[in-house]
Amino acid sequence: MLYDFRSFVNPGHYAFGKGSLKHLGELIERRKNENNDWTVFMIDHYFQDKKETLDRLPIGEKDLVFFIETKDEPKTTLVNKYRDQILAHQTTLPAVMVGMGGGTTMDYAKATGLMVTNPGDSKDYQGLDLIKNEGIYTIVIPTVSGTGAEVSMTAVLSGPEKKLGIKCDYTIPNEVLFDPELLATVPDSDRFFTGMDCYIHNVESLTGTWINSMGKAFAEKSNEICVKVFTNQIEDRLEADEQMMVASIMGGNSITYAQVGVCHALSYGLAVVLGTHHGVGNCIVFNQLEKYYPKGYQLFKEMQALQGVEIPSGITAGCSEEQFDQMVDVAWALEHMWNNVFGPDWEKHISKDEIKALFKKM
Ligand code: NAD
Ligand code: ZN
Repeated sequence: MLYDFRSFVNPGHYAFGKGSLKHLGELIERRKNENNDWTVFMIDHYFQDKKETLDRLPIGEKDLVFFIETKDEPKTTLVNKYRDQILAHQTTLPAVMVGMGGGTTMDYAKATGLMVTNPGDSKDYQGLDLIKNEGIYTIVIPTVSGTGAEVSMTAVLSGPEKKLGIKCDYTIPNEVLFDPELLATVPDSDRFFTGMDCYIHNVESLTGTWINSMGKAFAEKSNEICVKVFTNQIEDRLEADEQMMVASIMGGNSITYAQVGVCHALSYGLAVVLGTHHGVGNCIVFNQLEKYYPKGYQLFKEMQALQGVEIPSGITAGCSEEQFDQMVDVAWALEHMWNNVFGPDWEKHISKDEIKALFKKM
């Protein structure tokens, strides 16, 4: 086992349960003071024309609202742009940053909240412990479950040079509001792809060499829920959505205390070279990983069949050798993930040619 000692941090407050959204106003009011009395809302673009949901949000006259596009994963350039707009909006800093959406929107809120109080370009903060100052008080509200971004110390950003998280104690959201009623409209495919991100977090941490009792407990319980939900053992959709919110927190924590593996390493390669989204990218990769995760793979295929979701294939068909080499290099550089999979002598267990052959099957 190899990892640096770290005392991990979790969000300070959790509000959980059906209908919790109606209490958002109270949560925000608690954080306001004479000087800092306004709020920034970052909301998944899906809700832009959902008047019924927007009307339930405590958006005041002084507040600033961004609707977040989810076609691309979060970019450092856009984080900088949002930050500049926030600084120009009022003469004081906002009291609260709200991020309501999936992993994309929550990561934008986490990163932008930090950049309001840390000068310069967000690309210069991609990495571990580079942030100097605590950010704006951040409340995240997941509207699709699985990434664990709501409890993670990372905001994953694509910069001009790399896809890498801003990771430090301050990246953790200060508060999470879970309201399963918000998940009702997630399309089946997104529900499956993001849900499988959680499942894969658990499989990769449980089978890795870095696992400890803490990560194991979270991953086992989380996977029990994922499997129940995606093998349709919970008939009521609202109940299943509520349970997946718990699975997502626990899956996120399982990788905090352990690490991801082969699937995430390769999925990053697809994301950097082809712009493939995290959830679907993981499914495309995991679909080829029977050799590495035989038990996890079998259940994955069962769940996929039951959900009737197609996993895209042939996405690398038109790629050049140069692009394949670039994907391999991105995956190969994620040393900590390989180290988790095979141990410190990981290079003896896998070759660049094997990785390239896997990419060619996708
Ligand atoms: P996402 O946020 O892009 O959402 C998926 C899709 O669902 C989008 O089209 C979105 O508009 C839609 N959607 C969300 N809520 C909806 C609702 N209630 N009704 C209808 N549609 C809805 O995808 P995701 O899988 O949640 O997040 C992926 C991102 O998370 C990636 O950028 C990835 O890098 C990041 N991530 C971060 C961490 C972390 O620890 N910070 C971990 C894993 C993944
Ligand atoms: Zn993931």
